[in-house]
Amino acid sequence: MLNILVIGNGQCGNRILDSINRHAMGGGKNCNKLAKFYAKQKFKSHVETLAFNTAVNDLKEMKFTKAKDRVHIPHLHGVGANRNVGKQVFEENKEMIMRQVEERGNFDIAFVLTSASGGTGSSFTPLLVREMKNRYDYPVYCVVVLPFREEGTLYLQNTAFSIRDIRQSGADGIILADNQYLKNIGGNIEEAYNGINDMVAERLLFLLDALDSEMMMVTDLGDFKTVMSGGAGLATIGFFRADKEMPIKTTIQNSLSPSGLLFSTNVYEEASRAMIVIKGDRKYLSIDEISTEVEKLSGAVGHVFKGIVVRDGEYPQVLSLLTLESAHELEKLYNVAVQAIHYEKAKKQRVEEGIEMKKTFSQIEGMEPEY
Ligand code: GDP
Repeated sequence: MLNILVIGNGQCGNRILDSINRHAMGGGKNCNKLAKFYAKQKFKSHVETLAFNTAVNDLKEMKFTKAKDRVHIPHLHGVGANRNVGKQVFEENKEMIMRQVEERGNFDIAFVLTSASGGTGSSFTPLLVREMKNRYDYPVYCVVVLPFREEGTLYLQNTAFSIRDIRQSGADGIILADNQYLKNIGGNIEEAYNGINDMVAERLLFLLDALDSEMMMVTDLGDFKTVMSGGAGLATIGFFRADKEMPIKTTIQNSLSPSGLLFSTNVYEEASRAMIVIKGDRKYLSIDEISTEVEKLSGAVGHVFKGIVVRDGEYPQVLSLLTLESAHELEKLYNVAVQAIHYEKAKKQRVEEGIEMKKTFSQIEGMEPEY
């Protein structure tokens, strides 16, 4: 049995963690809010969860994560999207934060969930990962959510710097999920968030389940590590669950298609290594079809690990983990972020020089009020 630690930082990280806990309590959308008081998470592995936040309201909003797993780092009401403030708050509370991690025990693998663009999660995550890598031997993977592109200049510049910082923190890999790419989920913003969080949670749970399953064809933690070390430190996940009888060939293709992926990439061009995990009733698992699809992928990307989990009576589901050699979409995001940084810099300079205000006050220069 694997020992797994999942940490959610900041609002986005907390909410995805809460979705993981809801699913693990056997809850679909209707899982009872009281579940956290009496239900036991049904992870196959030994899973510990921890949520860190500077905003107490974000922690209170969590419905399926136990109180002992929600850790408030006192600092007014969040850090206002300022990563410098966030980093300082982390440093000031580092020992308290690391004590929480320490108390959870030792692990085989850890995941840290965060948005790239906010203040708390994006500044805590690289510092937390660095501390964890200094203190423990287990691999630490980050699941990083990219912003909607129209969310503003501060979020864009935070994204550019936080991803760089996470890469430099010693993280063993970054799994990308992109709000912008996934926004076609529809509904209002809250529903879109919930939909995206559920997608990420479902994929991570599938992955954890697969890593700890008896398989007909094996993928294990070692394979996962090899795949994750394959690309440029970046990865994403595709997934498809058939809700009716469907050839396994189509299920695999769907998991690799734009509607199955968490981040925009042309798998056949940008992927560097892959792991495909197939689950379902034996009658859907045609080895010929599986081999053909896997060969097609490995012809393009190099090495593909495959795992098969037999589940009687279940329609086929496929999870594809892909590390990326290049990421055109991320490059585009950095282009926009650079413009945002220039924009903010020019604005700051104008304000510091007081150009606009000088213009305003110059209008009354040499004048006195007349009564
Ligand atoms: P923090 O609490 O200061 O770390 O900031 P947030 O996690 O709220 O970061 C803001 C970014 O996260 C924005 O780009 C939001 O679109 C995104 N975000 C906030 N909440 C959620 C959520 O529940 N799900 C998803 N997918 N994105 C979120």
